[in-house]
Formats: sequence, C-alpha cells, structure tokens
Amino acid sequence: MASAVPDGDDAGGVQETAMKEQEGSILGGNKDSLICYPCHIYGIKDAKEADAVNEITRVKDYGSNLSLDDSFTIHSNYPDSHEEGRRILARCNICGGLMLRQLSKIECPYWDEPDEYYHDYVPVATVKEADLLNILWNGKELAEYPFRHIKRDDYRVLWTDGKEPEPYDPEELKQKIREKYAGLSPKHREMLEKMISQTGKL
Ligand SMILES: [Zn+2]
Repeated sequence: MASAVPDGDDAGGVQETAMKEQEGSILGGNKDSLICYPCHIYGIKDAKEADAVNEITRVKDYGSNLSLDDSFTIHSNYPDSHEEGRRILARCNICGGLMLRQLSKIECPYWDEPDEYYHDYVPVATVKEADLLNILWNGKELAEYPFRHIKRDDYRVLWTDGKEPEPYDPEELKQKIREKYAGLSPKHREMLEKMISQTGKL
C-alpha cells in the first residue's frame, strides 16, 4: 500500500511517456457542450488501431491517491495488486471526448526485464463525472468499469466485452459516494463534502 502522495506528484517514477500524453493547452477549455461522447475511437473496431489514433491532451492529473489531507488517504488510484500508478483526465485531440485513464505498474524483479504497465480508458461525458468517479472508485473498481472500454498492457490492446458506455448521473454518483464513505468521521465527511462541491472545475 502506497503512502499518501500529494496530487500532482508523478507517483514516484511512473514514466510520463508511458501515458502517451501531451502537455499543452486544453482544447476546448471548459466547454463541456462540445464534447463528443464516447470518444470517436469507439467507432474503430480494431483496438490497436483505435489506441494508435487516440492522441490526447492531459486536462487533469489525479495523482496516485485520493487523499482528504496529508494524513488521510481514501484510496489508491491503481489496483492494490500493483505497485504504483496514477490517473489522469484526458481530452481527445480529434473529437474532444474525455477519458479517465488509469495507469498501473508492476515492477519487474529482474534487472534485464522491463516493468509492466496496464492502462484502462474509461469514457466520461463531463469533467464533473470524471471527478466524481475518481472519488467513488478505487483502482480495482475503475479497472472493472463495466461498459466496453480499452484495456492496454505492453503486449496487447483490447476492447473489453460489455454494453456501450453510458454517462453516469452526477447526482447518483454523489449519493453512492456518501453511502460508500458513510463510516468516515464527521471531520472527514465534511472534507469529503467540500471535495464533492468542488467537482467539475478545471
Ligand atoms: Zn476522440
């Protein structure tokens, strides 16, 4: 289990290049109405081809952990079975579609073999939906996103089985977050409410 890492940290070594992302201006700014959902790559049957044309710009970095403060981490943004990872919100450079992307890493114990990287691409309709899912789902839960989506490792890119994606209702997500974390102390529930109230901002 990783210790709390402040948002924006690069997760202690996860390679930027592994995310296949570009730094740069945010295409379309905060104009959620212009967003294509799901991203146009959903129209490309071959997952490898879909991934290859999915040029993205990073909109937000959720870091390695979801933390309420320096001493209280709610969950890791990668499966606990992995050693490190992080999440970003990415915007497709072609259609403007948003995706929550989770990268997880398993370090190879042998010096002459590469580390292994796993990616999950989860389409979202708005920045708010992404922020709320980031709060609700731990690393394992995001990796189990139930709708059709791309999973990539160093050897394969696959479309998972499943129904076509549908956006989650933000109000329902808020409700699920409150139910999931109902056991937190009053102080932490208050901090969580503040975090919920700030979702949707860039
Ligand atoms: Zn797209």
